[in-house]
Amino acid sequence: MASEIQTPVLSNDHEQVNKDLHRHFNFTLGRFDTDDISGYMLTALALTVRDRLMERWRLTKETEVANKSRKVFYLSLEFLLGRSLGNAILNLNMQDSVRQALADFCCSLEHIEMDEKDAGLGNGGLGRLAACFMDSCATLALPVVGYGIRYEYGMFQQNIVEGRQVEQPDHWLIAGNPWEIERPGHSQVVRFYGHSEFYKNHSGETCVRWVGTQDVLAVPYDMPIPGYKNDKVNTLRLWKAAATEEFNLQEFNEGDYADAVAQKNLAEQITMVLYPNDASENGKELRLRQQYFLASASLQDVIAEWIKERGADFSNFAEFNCFQLNDTHPTLAVAELMRLLVDIYGLEWEKAWTITCKTMAYTNHTLLPEALEKWSVHMMGELLPRLLQIIYEINARFLALVAKRWPGDTDRQRRMSLIEEGGQPQVRMAYLAIVGSFSVNGVAELHSQLLKSGLFKDFYELWPEKFNNKTNGVTPRRWLAHCNRGLGDILTDVIGPGWKTDLSLLEKLKPYAEDTAFQERWAQVKLQNKEVLRNRVLQKCGVEFDTHSLFDVQVKRIHEYKRQLLNILHVIHLYDRITRGDTEGMVPRSVLIGGKAAPGYALAKLIIKLANNVAKVVNADDKVSPLLKLVFLPNYRVKSMEIICPAADLSEQISTAGKEASGTGNMKFMMNGALTIGTYDGANIEILDAVGQEHFFLFGLRVEDIPEFRLHNDPNHIIEQDEDLQRVMRLLECGHFNMFEPGLFEPIVRSIRSPLDPWMVAADFRSYVDAQKQVAAAYTDKSNWLRSSILNTAASGYFSSDRTIADYAREIWKI
Ligand SMILES: *Cc1c(COP(=O)(O)O)cnc(C)c1O
Repeated sequence: MASEIQTPVLSNDHEQVNKDLHRHFNFTLGRFDTDDISGYMLTALALTVRDRLMERWRLTKETEVANKSRKVFYLSLEFLLGRSLGNAILNLNMQDSVRQALADFCCSLEHIEMDEKDAGLGNGGLGRLAACFMDSCATLALPVVGYGIRYEYGMFQQNIVEGRQVEQPDHWLIAGNPWEIERPGHSQVVRFYGHSEFYKNHSGETCVRWVGTQDVLAVPYDMPIPGYKNDKVNTLRLWKAAATEEFNLQEFNEGDYADAVAQKNLAEQITMVLYPNDASENGKELRLRQQYFLASASLQDVIAEWIKERGADFSNFAEFNCFQLNDTHPTLAVAELMRLLVDIYGLEWEKAWTITCKTMAYTNHTLLPEALEKWSVHMMGELLPRLLQIIYEINARFLALVAKRWPGDTDRQRRMSLIEEGGQPQVRMAYLAIVGSFSVNGVAELHSQLLKSGLFKDFYELWPEKFNNKTNGVTPRRWLAHCNRGLGDILTDVIGPGWKTDLSLLEKLKPYAEDTAFQERWAQVKLQNKEVLRNRVLQKCGVEFDTHSLFDVQVKRIHEYKRQLLNILHVIHLYDRITRGDTEGMVPRSVLIGGKAAPGYALAKLIIKLANNVAKVVNADDKVSPLLKLVFLPNYRVKSMEIICPAADLSEQISTAGKEASGTGNMKFMMNGALTIGTYDGANIEILDAVGQEHFFLFGLRVEDIPEFRLHNDPNHIIEQDEDLQRVMRLLECGHFNMFEPGLFEPIVRSIRSPLDPWMVAADFRSYVDAQKQVAAAYTDKSNWLRSSILNTAASGYFSSDRTIADYAREIWKI
């Protein structure tokens, strides 16, 4: 159908919004009872906003088709989107009209927004990064499509019962999802199991086909991704697994009707649930199925579009298409593109390989060995026999290249092989990603350096030109403009509104840092944000924070390398000092810890339990609690971070040096004017460089010191020599925090005392406590603290994901 619409036509004025709201409430949703507004007003409003997205979405697509531009596909098993309504209203510039229209219904936008469920299709930083990137790509009007999985159950909900994490399924789709559009017409078939078969084609060449497969249908659901005030709407395409129609026809005809229908579930299992492991792989076959499902469906979709527009000529496919692999999770795309080009479209191996290597780009997110994906050759051979063959062929050719470059260096060949040999041979997914990509990037300067000198050293020596850095960023729309309107208004007041799309403009704040009147405004906004968080903490934890106390915050996934334990030890230390009456130089402090532990990660769960037990003792002690409070806030997610980061005074970024690839929570806090206490790790280093060391509390061992230190690391000796740590350990070991649960925290005590403790908790304790003393001293000087706070925001421009994406677009994607 020819398009008549050239510009968006639906008006954003308050009357029209009001009309649409009524229409959706009464007609789309069939609600007449105005007493029952609450639950349905959210959907009615979402649909009203969605109407405005729809026309912009269509225009964006039409423009792209007309331009025949080069496109990028961001492949990610995770997109941690959070809520969409507030973001869409902000980006479409509908805030005033929506507020007015809702006032006619006696509703407030804040109230309605809180009812929206988070789209929790991710674990933590990696998934949230993908969501920030989608926002920046749309805002920069870049032709980027996101591909992911539409999990029926997202990240689990965390309840705390008697101090312990209890997981509950997150059935986020239960009340429907107004933001998705199902497109069954674009479904793809994804194959599993079966075997390869050789045959001769019409020209007598030997070819391979994959037969006897069990097929699953991939049905796309599209989510609109609006750019900021630019009338662009990009697409995030999420795949849902469904049974194919011809599913198990045989059983069907044999009369096992019910069994055949029940088989449907097997197919649909693939997209049932997000694996809740952050920074560790678990090797489950279902996870491998998810990975291949995403890779195959997405590639077939892109190729179908390519053929529709240009026919089955792939000679310039690599000029127009680029796939960014978000970690190794979608890396089967390398082998799958080879399969499609060679087996299905009949290209010669070399031609197909050239195309593949010019099309794929890989982002590494971690150096932790337990997070490096390896799949058992046996499992892959069963589930994806043709893919395994292709991986072997890639490996054979690659190892020939290595042998030519380093003749006789068999040890190097063994090290670099895509297959790790041994009793249970495994496919090394990171190596497959490197071999099949033209770009390999880390996510912060230090991390990218460590990839080259450590984990991927051999590959760096072979292909130095592939390696590059793209320091992460976060979107200033969600993480400043939307979540901290008070601060946003001040910024716009003094430097104009341009910062929302050019965050480097925040530098213009610097002259105001010394201005006491401006500092006072800054302080007022922070206080208001702290009141909001205070109320939330009171409601969720029953503990009352004093808004004038230092809000000391650590929220992120619970992991030993992130060292929530070090934070808790510091809290115990402060508690110990207060009970001894040694309160000199202390400031009232409210410590908030939040985050989910992977359900199978026992020690991380025990750290949650410890935080809760310590909190109970600290908060119940009338002598202590005026100076110190501790809460563990349950169910940390995007929605909660939107309340937490505007209210934080102090951001805890205290990972063991060399372990946090980048971090992005650190950036959200900085943007919102928190000061950081942090190790020399990940993007902390770049934050420190940007803001200057007098506005950052640096502590701890550096990555280059650690190997030497490890050789003679003796935590027991460190504890003996440090009276403060000795007292902390004594409290832990005498059961002060677990009177009725004897021995409960022994594994934690043991890990701290172990000379092999990879996380160096005892080693960094003294330096951390000293840095925390400096924090307290600095907080006492209100004016100076405010100056540092303003300067942190002022220096945060570099950490906009707009900058990150501009770097990807210029240096990797070439769009
Ligand atoms: C930003 C964010 C993260 C990442 O936090 P890090 O401190 O970088 O680990 C994780 N989860 C949520 C909900 C976030 O918003």
